[in-house]
Amino acid sequence: MTGETMKKENVNKQNRSCLRIGMISLGCAKNRVDSEIMLGLIKNAGYEITNDIELADIVVVNTCGFIESSKEEGINTLLDVAQLKKTGRLSGIIAAGCLAQRYGKEITALIPEVDAVVGAFGYSNICDAIKCVWECSKKVLTDRPENRSAAEKSRSICYFDDREITDLDYLEGERILTTPACYAYLKIAEGCSNRCTYCAIPSIRGPYRSRPVEKVVREAKKLISRGVKELVVVAQDTTMYGTDISGKSLLPELLEALDGIEELAFIRILYLYPDEITDEIIDAIGKAKKVVPYFDIPLQHINDNVLKRMNRRGNGKMYRDVIKKLRERIPGCIIRTSLITGFPGETEEEHRELLEFLRETRLERVGVFIYSREEGTPAARMNDQVHPSTKKRRYRELMAAQQEVSYNFNSSRVGRVFPVLVESVSDDGIFYIGRSYMEAPEEDGSVFFAAKKEHSIGDIVDVKVLVAEEYDVTGEETGDSN
Ligand code: SF4
Repeated sequence: MTGETMKKENVNKQNRSCLRIGMISLGCAKNRVDSEIMLGLIKNAGYEITNDIELADIVVVNTCGFIESSKEEGINTLLDVAQLKKTGRLSGIIAAGCLAQRYGKEITALIPEVDAVVGAFGYSNICDAIKCVWECSKKVLTDRPENRSAAEKSRSICYFDDREITDLDYLEGERILTTPACYAYLKIAEGCSNRCTYCAIPSIRGPYRSRPVEKVVREAKKLISRGVKELVVVAQDTTMYGTDISGKSLLPELLEALDGIEELAFIRILYLYPDEITDEIIDAIGKAKKVVPYFDIPLQHINDNVLKRMNRRGNGKMYRDVIKKLRERIPGCIIRTSLITGFPGETEEEHRELLEFLRETRLERVGVFIYSREEGTPAARMNDQVHPSTKKRRYRELMAAQQEVSYNFNSSRVGRVFPVLVESVSDDGIFYIGRSYMEAPEEDGSVFFAAKKEHSIGDIVDVKVLVAEEYDVTGEETGDSN
């Protein structure tokens, strides 16, 4: 784009009634909720929201800074957007979220096109950041960014973060949902007070802070009144919910309150800490009509020595006992876990124990992560860092073992009928795509099914499974589902 057209372009922008804001949301479900809250603030401030980044005036990239791969994704996304800015089509870039919280200064030094940084405690300032970026961009209408002096550049970067803001009132705001209309994440707390040696989240997001039960229930009712059928309850550690405000877990109380909401169909709980799954929590889940028997329990490993070096509470025996108890108390339940392979000092024997654990316990859903040496974490300073090729080989072995378990599990579903929440239609229009209680959104596979009649997103349809694959199943509508 020539200087001339760029000027014309910017003049058009100046004259347009309102700015167009684009949002790229990276990372976990908790980060997605923050993006949705920011979109709500942006809309209420009168800005136009565009899903097409190419049409945006200002782009917010809500980043993740958890592990190496997510940091790379954040940087690459910012670089892609910076490319767009260099063409003059974009007036401003805002880096938000965990990576911005952790490396705000480094990001703006590395990517001079980034105009503002909104940390993990600064979401409620997103509109001030937009205003600041826009004002700055107007100042440099003629200048190309790289022509500006470093001093001039540093003067104009807006940083928005306020570690003092520990309350979670920003989560009470209106959300622009970015998930399919039939489900939404319900963030019940922020931060984490556990101290797993490999994890930087407590240093990024601060200590554990629960939202009061009544505020969570109020938000849940708002979401359901907008047609949401499934609520996916998230936090860094959902079992710890309420312990910071009442000294004991309020998860049972919250589930009972959510279970009483009329139009809600499904409640799914993620991120349960293994040694905090008390009988009270199991009873509350068992008693509730709408809480699906799906337990997401990040174990991270099964070997006692590795768990100790990870500073994870509990041990291999306790984890096996929790799994056994859940399967006895709630037959047909689904257990999902996430595991870390290649943790510093992990021996071949300890790896083989984890492999054996997968084969013997046959967990329905497993995610495996290669250990990422995170700056500032105790594990990063440990000796005996495992060689990258060994980590990769162990990762492949664990995934291969789990693929077999997952395929056999899905094969056991053939011929059975499950209520499926319709999320979308396949591109060729032949199949509806949805999830039963056995699939968490964005983590697990899907249910593809041929229907007897037209359905809308959010319908719940009885589907008979006909074909199994490693992760997905295919079936057909049966009986007279709603
Ligand atoms: S529980 Fe452990 S891994 Fe999870 S966020 Fe907290 S410190 Fe990190």
